[in-house]
Amino acid sequence: MRIDETLREEGPTFSFEFFPPKTAQGEENLYAALADLRSLEPAFVSVTYGAGGSTRSKTIEIVKRIKEEWGLEAMAHFTCVGATVPELRSTLDEMRDAGIENVLALRGDPPAGETEWTKTDGGLEYSRELVELIDGDYPALAIGAACFPETHIHATSAEDDLEHLAGKVGAGVDFLITQLFFDNAFYFDFVERARRVGINVPIVPGIMPITNIEQLERFIRLCGATVPMRLVLQLERYRDDPDAVVQLGVAHATVQCMELLARGVPGIHFYTLNKSPATRLIVSALRGRGAAPASGPPR
Ligand SMILES: Cc1cc2nc3c(=O)[nH]c(=O)nc-3n(C[C@H](O)[C@H](O)[C@H](O)COP(=O)(O)OP(=O)(O)OC[C@H]3O[C@@H](n4cnc5c(N)ncnc54)[C@H](O)[C@@H]3O)c2cc1C
Repeated sequence: MRIDETLREEGPTFSFEFFPPKTAQGEENLYAALADLRSLEPAFVSVTYGAGGSTRSKTIEIVKRIKEEWGLEAMAHFTCVGATVPELRSTLDEMRDAGIENVLALRGDPPAGETEWTKTDGGLEYSRELVELIDGDYPALAIGAACFPETHIHATSAEDDLEHLAGKVGAGVDFLITQLFFDNAFYFDFVERARRVGINVPIVPGIMPITNIEQLERFIRLCGATVPMRLVLQLERYRDDPDAVVQLGVAHATVQCMELLARGVPGIHFYTLNKSPATRLIVSALRGRGAAPASGPPR
């Protein structure tokens, strides 16, 4: 099932993101989280593509397994990192042969320790080129792409970033998923600016429940998202109380999701980090309040 169709026909959707684990224990944790979250009937799940393209076959293997053995729609993330165009094509062939119908087309980040992005010789510079490649030669694939309510961390300006995003969407993107954010004002403002420049595809907000302060600090260093001062102060109070941090993180994300749904988002994509409890609590609370379907028009 193509995710763009699901978003159009069934929204608002819930979806869950996982990453390919590196160890046997990690793999066990992933499938345990999946087993727990499956009962929440997500519209789809997605599996990331490791930094440096390091999880190429693992990503495809997990997506295929989730589709075939778990009966869930699953999307593969895919980046331009470390691959020539023929290599990118060969991975796309593999995805098509594995029955994958949805791909999140990304540029990827510079390798660990580097801040400057340099394209691989014979590879692609921007995700837009990957979108063009998929749209031209793999028309059966639904194409998702990333967007950044607080602007991409290495963009030259918010205006430039939005202009590049509009070009990328025009090249064949069917839906967008946002980088995580902790203040909904960024999302609403971004959607408004995006609509003004003619970006009309669904923009699904990405939500990460905070469960660990050190991990949160690492993420925001990497992606540049900001945490509202009120929340920072509350988190500081609980720095030595991990359970209280989880409770606060779940409460904050639940309130965020309630407002997003009330204002008609097409769905919510949860960054689960391969753990189920926080996401389960939030989705259960939202379902308990009859959070779907939304009343407003899809954004
Ligand atoms: C939902 C989501 C999922 C993700 N999943 C993964 C994953 O699985 N694996 C992974 O490695 N990373 C992942 N990322 C991170 C992503 O790869 C990085 O954020 C990366 O730095 C940007 O990717 P992009 O596809 O947005 O790049 P692009 O769209 O290529 O943009 C990158 C930068 O280039 C600029 N730009 C674009 N076009 C032009 C142009 N023509 N001229 C000049 N500048 C331009 C943009 O403004 C931006 O600053 C994910 C991010 C999100 C939001």
